[in-house]
Amino acid sequence: MEIPPGTELVALLGDPVAHSLSPRMHAAAFEALGLRWAYVALRVLPSDLPEAVRGLRALGFVGANVTVPHKEAAAELMDRLDEVARACGAVNTIVFGEGRRALGYNTDVAGVRRTLRYGNVKVSGLRAAVLGAGGAARAVCVALAQEGAAEVALFARRVERAEFLAGSMSTLFPGVQFEAHPLHQDALRRSLQEAALLVNATPIGMHPDTDQSPIPSEEVLHDRMGVLDLVYNPSRTRLLRMAERAGARTLSGLWVLAFQGAVSFELWTGRPAPVEAMLRAIDAPRPPEERP
Ligand code: NAP
Repeated sequence: MEIPPGTELVALLGDPVAHSLSPRMHAAAFEALGLRWAYVALRVLPSDLPEAVRGLRALGFVGANVTVPHKEAAAELMDRLDEVARACGAVNTIVFGEGRRALGYNTDVAGVRRTLRYGNVKVSGLRAAVLGAGGAARAVCVALAQEGAAEVALFARRVERAEFLAGSMSTLFPGVQFEAHPLHQDALRRSLQEAALLVNATPIGMHPDTDQSPIPSEEVLHDRMGVLDLVYNPSRTRLLRMAERAGARTLSGLWVLAFQGAVSFELWTGRPAPVEAMLRAIDAPRPPEERP
């Protein structure tokens, strides 16, 4: 493939990156708008990250996406962090701005917020539950706080990690009640009874362990709630199938991928992202209202 001179360049820094859907999604977006831009996935070892970021800056890249395992380390390397990236302690998008300064953003938060709208699930004044206490769970907590959730229950197999996350989120968002629980059936059942949303922010159910679910049975779900699975490989996870059987609204992790990508695209190009083309490029499901 020819990349002619004058092509604007964006990179993905991660390890692994071989199965990432982002190059396909961004290529579709550039093509939809007729932009002469290219997006290249680069495998980078943790010890090489500082040099990789300096290299992109020196080579004139417009910016980059950052993925596992570099999101937290990248935050330390930025010249400036926006408020959301600072709250997350993690960066998934870099823009080399004026004077080639590295500006760090976290668009996973906006990705989750846009996904809730796309799936027509409201959490304002309501209760939500999050499974997991890692980097993605942190971004979900920030998104839920920004959406005006009243209570957020965090579930983790190592409850001390959930307690730590709940503590730091309570400091950032004193108006939201954050609680920590062990990932057990009884605690889940009690908490989910009144919940408007359940988010899986663990990798449970991801290929090749597609027969696994982070919840033991669909009895803990109900038909007045939404269920978002951040796992998108496969796109219809066991958790989402359980949610369908319980009559809950299902929200796809592919939507989060597309919407976080759309916000990154807008930061790099300054143009509204062609979201439909991006959703199509990764075979994202339609929201329930639009299904034939
Ligand atoms: P992470 O920082 O490694 O955190 C993973 C969390 O899941 C930790 O709390 C971990 O608990 C927990 N966990 C892992 N395996 C578990 C198991 N078998 N049982 C119970 N808990 C388990 O990872 P992350 O960056 O937050 O990502 C989490 C998932 O979200 C990944 O699958 C990632 O691909 C996905 N994600 C998707 C999107 C999207 O665009 N759709 C965006 C971001 C992330 P311990 O601390 O006890 O290990």
